[in-house]
Amino acid sequence: MHEDCLFCKIVRKEINAKEVLRDEHVVAFHDLNPQAPTHVLVIPTVHAEHLSDFAKQGNPVTAGRLLAAAAEIGTRFGPNGYRVVMNEGPDAGQSVHHLHAHVLAGRPLAWPPG
Ligand code: 5GP
Ligand code: ZN
Repeated sequence: MHEDCLFCKIVRKEINAKEVLRDEHVVAFHDLNPQAPTHVLVIPTVHAEHLSDFAKQGNPVTAGRLLAAAAEIGTRFGPNGYRVVMNEGPDAGQSVHHLHAHVLAGRPLAWPPG
């Protein structure tokens, strides 16, 4: 746990979020600034800054659960399809440094992304 990390605070329920799923491995909640009719973030309950850190040091069970939760949310909110995105580093526009998967659904999503 990182004291000042925004998403660790959501895990600890020190900041409110509209949660859609929570278990020992992951928490999922609606994004504050949605980019699609459904925009949910799925985060590991244990802090990891980036996907690359998590890939090296994270618990593989948590990694699997993160993907499975993204799929559960995608199929629940996006019967016509959905997209899962992880941003890492400045070129990708990562703004919160606690690993998160964006699940976007509810409208056609252009490709390639910006
Ligand atoms: P990133 O740009 O790092 O890939 O995504 C961070 C996401 O977190 C953004 O989509 C942003 O809207 C969302 N976000 C930032 N602060 C909060 C917050 O306090 N609560 C919620 N629910 N989402 C947040
Ligand atoms: Zn954190």
